Amino acid sequence: MPTWFKRERKAIETPSEEERRIRTEGLWVKCDGCGLALWKKDLEQNWQVCPKCHHHFRLGAAKRLELLLDDDKWAELDAGLASSDPLNFVDTQPYGERLREMRQRLGMSDAILTAEGKMNGREVLCCSMEFAFIAGSMGAVVGEKVTRAMERAADRKTPLVIVSCSGGARMQEGVVSLMQLAKVSAAAARLDECRVPFVSVLTDPTTGGVTASYALLGDLNIGEPGALIGFAGPRVIEQTIRQKLPRGFQRAEFLLEHGFLDAVVHRRELKSYISNAFDFFLS
Ligand SMILES: [Zn+2]
Repeated sequence: MPTWFKRERKAIETPSEEERRIRTEGLWVKCDGCGLALWKKDLEQNWQVCPKCHHHFRLGAAKRLELLLDDDKWAELDAGLASSDPLNFVDTQPYGERLREMRQRLGMSDAILTAEGKMNGREVLCCSMEFAFIAGSMGAVVGEKVTRAMERAADRKTPLVIVSCSGGARMQEGVVSLMQLAKVSAAAARLDECRVPFVSVLTDPTTGGVTASYALLGDLNIGEPGALIGFAGPRVIEQTIRQKLPRGFQRAEFLLEHGFLDAVVHRRELKSYISNAFDFFLS
């Protein structure tokens, strides 16, 4: 029997599960809120908020400045401040080495950026924390930058916004890091005396020494939806008081209901909300 037809090309092969996984790896992210697979590009364009369930993912420090300030035209202040590792601290890795790695990877000298720029045309000072830098912890540099931002705001009568995202005080700087709580709080009190408005934005997570100092000292304390905000973590509290904590404890909505926050604002509305607040404070 002659062969009338011959298959010349190879059959269409479906890529194996493994191949498919490798090809799309890193392009998708699973939403912690609704479980949906989200295209990373879409998420980026939406300021890291899930378009389906509005779960707020963490936003990097520089992106946050882009979100809040006009036209990406901001100038960084105190960029050169860097920790001197005062205790020569070593945990699983020498602290100095950890700092060097972070600086190289993130291109920042420490866990916060201070910027001067405009918000809907108004001069503002804005500090923005970076969680990726040693869990956004506050050591001497973060404390000093926040203090200087407050002093500048007071001198120039420029309103101040601080966006927090932090695991608390930086353990590797020991008591030097704890001292920042007092220093920053004193600066906040002086800023208050000068009657310059200060808006604090608490994002997921804002905990420990940052919550216990400047993050809750704003004239207006705004939480992002779903943000974990607290001093000690829920497990530590449960073990201490030997009680089960209520549902949603330490989440922004719960804290708003119980008077710890003044508002919970969607990231999409954050800039106009803060801008309106300054209009109100300064009128
Ligand atoms: Zn979602």
